[in-house]
Amino acid sequence: MIDFNRPAFTGKETDYIKQAVMNHKLCGDGEFTKKCSQWMKDKLKTKYSLLTTSCTHALEMGAYLTDIQPGEEVIMPSYTFVSTADAFVLRGARVAFVDVRPDTMNIDENLIEAAINEKTRAIAPVHYAGVACDMDKIMEIAKHYNLKVVEDAAQAVNAYYKGKALGTIGDFGCFSFHETKNYIMGEGGALLFQDDEMLERAEVLREKGTDRSKFFRGQVDKYTWVDFGSSYLPSELNAAYLYAQLEACDKIDERRMSVWNFYNENLKDLADKGIIEVPFIPDYAKHNAHMYYIKAKNIEERTELISYLRSKDICSAFHYVPLHSAAAGRKFGYFVGEDKYTTKESERLTRLPMYYDLTLEDAATVTQAIHDFYKGR
Ligand SMILES: *Cc1c(COP(=O)(O)O)cnc(C)c1O
Repeated sequence: MIDFNRPAFTGKETDYIKQAVMNHKLCGDGEFTKKCSQWMKDKLKTKYSLLTTSCTHALEMGAYLTDIQPGEEVIMPSYTFVSTADAFVLRGARVAFVDVRPDTMNIDENLIEAAINEKTRAIAPVHYAGVACDMDKIMEIAKHYNLKVVEDAAQAVNAYYKGKALGTIGDFGCFSFHETKNYIMGEGGALLFQDDEMLERAEVLREKGTDRSKFFRGQVDKYTWVDFGSSYLPSELNAAYLYAQLEACDKIDERRMSVWNFYNENLKDLADKGIIEVPFIPDYAKHNAHMYYIKAKNIEERTELISYLRSKDICSAFHYVPLHSAAAGRKFGYFVGEDKYTTKESERLTRLPMYYDLTLEDAATVTQAIHDFYKGR
């Protein structure tokens, strides 16, 4: 049986968790949380990074910090995870869904401007599969119309746009360390930003509306309730797991990349013949091998492909049902312009098994099964 995903374990995770236990420090913002934040600062060149309980929560923080008001609008692709939209909907915002580019499945940067109106407050680009959106274009539009940019970089930790780490380009960047992502802590995430003026508000929001972070730094002698807040800090046990993963990032990247490249080389013949489509990586993007997907001719062929692979004990998975077609999507948002690609392309897409422990032998079983499926047609 070849699983679709298995959470990575690289070796030191349990030692670090044990260390956290022995340190008698299990709640948030201890040594391991600090080490994880420092890693993001050093490696990804972000000025600030706050570890959070999930990417969903990082997005909620980002949405809150944009100051978006009820009735105002945020622009995002419809082809994304629900959390991108939920974060803004919780603030009473409406979602303007824009079509994706069929080559990367990212928001079509050329359709954003047409979705802007006097209520628009923010853009939330999603770096699907760890492949960058066209950020120069998006940032230029945001600057021109004075909009905030919240990058959903859940899948894009340690992926780059023209040498800049994804998540560090917009006003806010949101990472996920959920066990289905590249580097993991069970459930977890991070909020990244570069603006000094955001630090205090972000820390207060994360610490139940108190200035506790300042207190710990010795900047105030007691902490009090200063603003709206929640609890977005993860336990040290989770941070300890994550720190082991971040230390082993090269090992994780190398293994994922070798599987990604293997799929790409061994499915090239089918792609060249136009039988399937494979991911496209624009010149400006350095991806992180988060995901490998193929596109079948249509939804019927995809359904048959998934069940054929299943019969060979291979788990593959399709992805998002476009948000604008869901009940909540209709209630909280609307699609701008024509849905030329979002529905059609999402119905063709199948994700192949991809995880740290997946061997090239397993990957070969997968590509062979795909060849067998198409041979019989
Ligand atoms: C995984 C994912 C999320 C949610 O991450 P959590 O850490 O599980 O909250 C949000 N957006 C995208 C694009 C994702 O892939």
